[in-house]
Amino acid sequence: MRNNPLATVRNLGILAHVDAGKTTVTERILYATGTTHKRGEVHDGTTVTDFDPQERDRGITIFAAAVSCDWDGHRINLIDTPGHVDFADEVERSLRVLDGAVAVFDAVAGVEPQSESVWRQADRHGVPRIAFVNKMDRAGADLDAAVASIRDRLHPAPLVVQLPIGAEGGFTGVVDLVRMRALTWTDDGDAVDGAPVPDDLREEARRRRRLLEEAVAELHPGALEEFCDSGALRTGTLAAALRDLTRGGDGVVVLCGSAYRNRGVEPLLDAVTAYLPSPLDVPPVRGTGDDGTAQQRPADPAAPFTALAFKVNATATGRLTYLRVYSGTIGKGDTVWDATAGRGERIGRILRVQADRHAQLDRAVAGDIVAVVGLKSARAGSTLCAPDAPLLLEPPGVAEPVVSVA
Ligand code: GDP
Repeated sequence: MRNNPLATVRNLGILAHVDAGKTTVTERILYATGTTHKRGEVHDGTTVTDFDPQERDRGITIFAAAVSCDWDGHRINLIDTPGHVDFADEVERSLRVLDGAVAVFDAVAGVEPQSESVWRQADRHGVPRIAFVNKMDRAGADLDAAVASIRDRLHPAPLVVQLPIGAEGGFTGVVDLVRMRALTWTDDGDAVDGAPVPDDLREEARRRRRLLEEAVAELHPGALEEFCDSGALRTGTLAAALRDLTRGGDGVVVLCGSAYRNRGVEPLLDAVTAYLPSPLDVPPVRGTGDDGTAQQRPADPAAPFTALAFKVNATATGRLTYLRVYSGTIGKGDTVWDATAGRGERIGRILRVQADRHAQLDRAVAGDIVAVVGLKSARAGSTLCAPDAPLLLEPPGVAEPVVSVA
């Protein structure tokens, strides 16, 4: 499985209450991964994910857009999810095509009502999450209080893997409690990684590392057995346990930062690739075959083609249908079966959307998120499949929780 290229794909959503900083986090991810070379600012209307003029005018993310970027040998397909409660259907559809999510919280406000409702939706879909407490630079920012509100209102076991260095305007870095190293940022937001833990924080960092180990051991019996004689947990064991707990939905890794100041996005991306699942780590999709039987389709490029259309956008390029490919392979010019409409469709161009650009692909395989030009009948929610292996994907709300990966 390690050599399977699918293992390096992360289909990721960013969930947040309006104003928590989802757009800014997305923007900084695109910047950090080299997808964009300018730092768009939300307030001057130049961000690249919110490219619909209506979105710019209203200042909220209305339409989900999927953007692909690369980080540390992984492809991250970022699926935008609206944070506004009026767009719950669209959030629901986005959640169906994600394998994992980052939930963004405001370090001053903590958990807000909409964070709670989106969190519950993600629970129903069994989407593993990590939490990013944003706006650590704001006056009144308090990581511990935000973590307490996550524990009290959302009820997951928070696994805090960072200790902030400095507070509010003086927030300049974090101690990575897994590696026990410091990560600081310059005034320009450039990261300086791997420094020793500052002397004045050493004791507090050790205390918090112990708390993290204890929380992990309580949830993960396998990790408990790995405690060495000195009473500590090895770093590799801790990281593996954090991955298992995240993927199994038993715990939520918590990181912090300030997206606006470009602080904390690199460790967030590292956590996404380390802890959140790939398409191989989630259960196969289920649906109903032509003969009425229940069937499953594995995330395998050689299996019959199955995809969900989750977004249709009219753009200057044409009618773009965003697809999550669950199984199989499709090529340009192939005919597929729209199982929802009950008709054949021809695949025109296949595009990978990279913020403000489109890369043309010859084919798309299991695990991919792509946009296709040329589909006429497919709507958001339609199942597309191989004509000789028809399958209608199950309607939303019936996803099984993600299984824990041992
Ligand atoms: P969204 O509604 O969740 O997409 O949030 P935005 O990314 O649009 O951010 C909402 C507001 O918070 C904007 O004015 C941002 O500039 C601001 N903001 C975002 N991240 C931070 C941060 O880390 N610190 C501070 N102080 N402000 C931030």
